Amino acid sequence: MGEPKSNRKRILTGDRPTGKLHLGHYVGSLQNRVKLQHEYETYLLIADIQALTTHWDKPEMLKQAVYDVAMDNLAVGIDPEVTTLCVQSMIPEIAELTNIYGLFTNMNKLRHNPTTKAEAIQYGMTKDLRLVRDALNAAVGYQRLDLLSGYVALHLKDSPFLAMLDSQEERVEVIKAILSNDSDAAASIVMRVFDRELGHTPDGLRLRNSDTTYIQFELDESADGKTKPLYTSSLTVRIPVELNALLLLESHLSSGFDQLTYGFFGYPLSQAADITFVRAHLVPVGEDQKPHIELTRDIVSKFNQLYGGGKEIIPMPKALIGDVPRLAGLDGDTKMSKSLGNVINLADPPEAVKKTVWKAITDKDKIRKGDPGNPEICNVFKYHKVFNQAERVAGIERDCKTGVLGCVECKGRLTEALDDLLAPIRERRRPYEEHPERVKEILLEGTKKARILGKETLDMVKEAMKIDYF
Ligand code: ATP
Ligand code: MG
Repeated sequence: MGEPKSNRKRILTGDRPTGKLHLGHYVGSLQNRVKLQHEYETYLLIADIQALTTHWDKPEMLKQAVYDVAMDNLAVGIDPEVTTLCVQSMIPEIAELTNIYGLFTNMNKLRHNPTTKAEAIQYGMTKDLRLVRDALNAAVGYQRLDLLSGYVALHLKDSPFLAMLDSQEERVEVIKAILSNDSDAAASIVMRVFDRELGHTPDGLRLRNSDTTYIQFELDESADGKTKPLYTSSLTVRIPVELNALLLLESHLSSGFDQLTYGFFGYPLSQAADITFVRAHLVPVGEDQKPHIELTRDIVSKFNQLYGGGKEIIPMPKALIGDVPRLAGLDGDTKMSKSLGNVINLADPPEAVKKTVWKAITDKDKIRKGDPGNPEICNVFKYHKVFNQAERVAGIERDCKTGVLGCVECKGRLTEALDDLLAPIRERRRPYEEHPERVKEILLEGTKKARILGKETLDMVKEAMKIDYF
């Protein structure tokens, strides 16, 4: 047992109810929550208002997602007897703190937040694709690729496929489809262009790995009875996830992002209110959240300095990044993310897991069993390293390199390792699925409890600011 409750330090973290939780959440944040819940007084916030900063037009999705996110947390081992689960929109104190922090937070702090900028592009908040491409060209032109851990690189000039595109509009259409992760749209443009240029859509046309990070179009050898590929072209696209790359976009931010809302731009500030309404000390999160925790620390420091009269009214929170700071999707380099649709959910049934693993991109040059592979560039191997036992991983690495192990078998082994992890999680989820009223009760009770602390914080804040007149 830990220390008595009142002396324990506090954790706050949470999730946006935009869908079910996935393996990225598990390794980035959930594992730490479960591990530390007895040592820290833990608060898990379901950030529904924050979800609406990108999904304001889909409020109807929230209710189910609120249940899902709560159930996923409970399923991985969050104990509702010791951990408080609560709902952001039901805690008005958070909104009040958001308002207050906005008073002394400089716009530049928000403007230079790399995560917000990456997300703004990811969610298509800029209509102006030229902006994105200009930045990319500049990045390439200035040889700044070394800076860019997640950059967008469009290798356009050597692509015979893109040369077939009629117009600038068509190019933009393809790029747009890819940037918005819409592989169906990308595929349909490809088909259309082939149809026009070749007079038909060859049966053998395969759109391989139609994903955000690597797209390769090729004609099957059997197409048109030819023995050799009729046409091969590749187009490599990387979506910006981490933001050094977008330093280059900084100067455009205010003019270019026409669809950037006040709420979205300001959500890191509201996250500072999330963290501080319970006066949290520790925030277990994935790497993408680091800039937000930095902002929170700035705000706390400024608040204490401005109004604390030498006292620390709000404690200084610290980020705790998970064992895997940023789990990529099995489709390549982009973050596994609910909104990108490249996920393995914790609640996925075995069949769904198998299917996703099956589609994973391995070493492209390892075509068949017997070909020596390069595990370092293989997404499936990256997952083995995270989710499989160390001694098995060593064997897989060895046998892939010699070619003894084929990709099919290797994917099978990954599926098994993931099932070992997910089976007990599914088991623990089931009783909550059968009794959603229990989840509702947990959330209502938790929210009530969290509000008491929130009220206390807000009183302290108002007193420090001398806005407690009567
Ligand atoms: P959305 O696309 O809706 O924002 P998300 O998958 O990014 O969904 P969040 O609810 O924003 O999920 O994130 C919840 C927590 O999980 C955060 O701490 C975040 O850093 C962490 N997290 C999310 N995805 C990953 C990932 N792929 N790897 C590591 N941590 C992650
Ligand atoms: Mg997110």
